[in-house]
Amino acid sequence: MEQESTYKNIAVIGLGAAGGLVSVLLSKNPYNRVVGFDTKEPFSTLLPTGGGRCNLTYNEEDIREFAKNYPRGEKFLLSVFSRFNQQKTRKLFEDLGIKTYVQKDDRVFPVSDSSQKTVKILNSHLDNPNFSLKKEKVINIVKTENGFEVKTPNESYFFDYVIVATGGSKNSFELAEKLNHKIIEPKPSLCALDIKEKYLYKLSGVNFKDIQIKSVFNNKKFTTVYGDILFAHKFITGPAVFKVSALTAYENFDEKSPLELYLKLTSYTKEDIEEELRNNQKKSVKNVFSKFAPLSFIEAISNFNNIDCEKQSAQLKKQEKHILTEAIINLKLNAQKRIKDSEIVTAGGVDLKEINPKTMESKIVKGLYFIGEILDVDGYTGGFNLQNCWSGAYICAQNFN
Ligand SMILES: Cc1cc2nc3c(=O)[nH]c(=O)nc-3n(C[C@H](O)[C@H](O)[C@H](O)COP(=O)(O)OP(=O)(O)OC[C@H]3O[C@@H](n4cnc5c(N)ncnc54)[C@H](O)[C@@H]3O)c2cc1C
Repeated sequence: MEQESTYKNIAVIGLGAAGGLVSVLLSKNPYNRVVGFDTKEPFSTLLPTGGGRCNLTYNEEDIREFAKNYPRGEKFLLSVFSRFNQQKTRKLFEDLGIKTYVQKDDRVFPVSDSSQKTVKILNSHLDNPNFSLKKEKVINIVKTENGFEVKTPNESYFFDYVIVATGGSKNSFELAEKLNHKIIEPKPSLCALDIKEKYLYKLSGVNFKDIQIKSVFNNKKFTTVYGDILFAHKFITGPAVFKVSALTAYENFDEKSPLELYLKLTSYTKEDIEEELRNNQKKSVKNVFSKFAPLSFIEAISNFNNIDCEKQSAQLKKQEKHILTEAIINLKLNAQKRIKDSEIVTAGGVDLKEINPKTMESKIVKGLYFIGEILDVDGYTGGFNLQNCWSGAYICAQNFN
């Protein structure tokens, strides 16, 4: 019979996406004794993901292209993905009993289209004698001479190794800081934005597909983004807005000094619009322009600028034509704040310079590992944030085989 000392005693703090998966993988090895700490049910943070369908990852084989979807962490993740990419993740999920499929827009979902079913299957792998769950919040992790002391409000536990996977919360960063890790200032990312142009909130529910947004703040230009945008009752949202919010996560824009957004709502050009006007002089202004944007949008722009959009397009003044055309091909909006608590992920976290991407081990404290959103990594929507968790979990588990 094996000596108790041949076992590796491993604590996993936080059992969300990253901590849950690393626990599943570690507990498959009979020489590991894994204790997971979380006050929530394992994997329960997956339940709301992908609108309840769990957008597991994104179908892009080129890891360089894949890594471009992370405003923070791109270089670090190139190394991580060279070891464990999205294809390997899909194969791993299939081996765990979760078949996946690629949606038209390249986002990857479980065939069940259900976060609930996915969580249930993942949880079934934790029903394993090598894994035990402590439904306790960890309040401190202390490096001891031979390992670690993990403290909860009521007890102290001792381990050889600790994996921290507590996500992007304030308490996460405090745990890491107490272990002498540098935290890059956390900021909300993937947020809805409030714009100054309140009259456009009348458009609540109107969705523009695959538009282009250029953003500028204090003369600083950000990468042009593409995607959908939705006008809601009190904010703008959707994948393109999320990308803008991620790129500008560290900019302090407000009412006095807003983030300027320039939207191209159609693939048509100014010349196309002029030609349409020339060829349809007797048609109403709103009829002509609604070829390029939803009617409700044309009406909102016309009303705001006192343009009679019922009149024939031949009667449109030069300035009015300019206003309507600009609204479609270069609509300027001023974002004055991020909508509070709308963020999907946190930018910032444990400084990547202090983590070895080949193992996910801390370079500061031996035997300590960080995976998932606690790291200074954040991606766009589309499955990128979960992929960071899956890859980190897999690479981390390899140290204990
Ligand atoms: C509404 C919503 C939808 C999303 N949809 C998607 C999507 O479809 N695709 C995608 O890629 N990403 C999505 N994301 C982002 C994704 O869910 C996160 O990036 C991911 O869950 C982060 O995983 P994690 O394991 O690092 O942390 P989490 O999943 O947040 O898990 C952290 C766990 O640690 C526990 N914990 C924290 N502190 C302690 C402590 N002190 N002691 C013990 N336990 C602790 C928490 O209870 C939690 O269970 C979505 C996010 C939200 C909010």
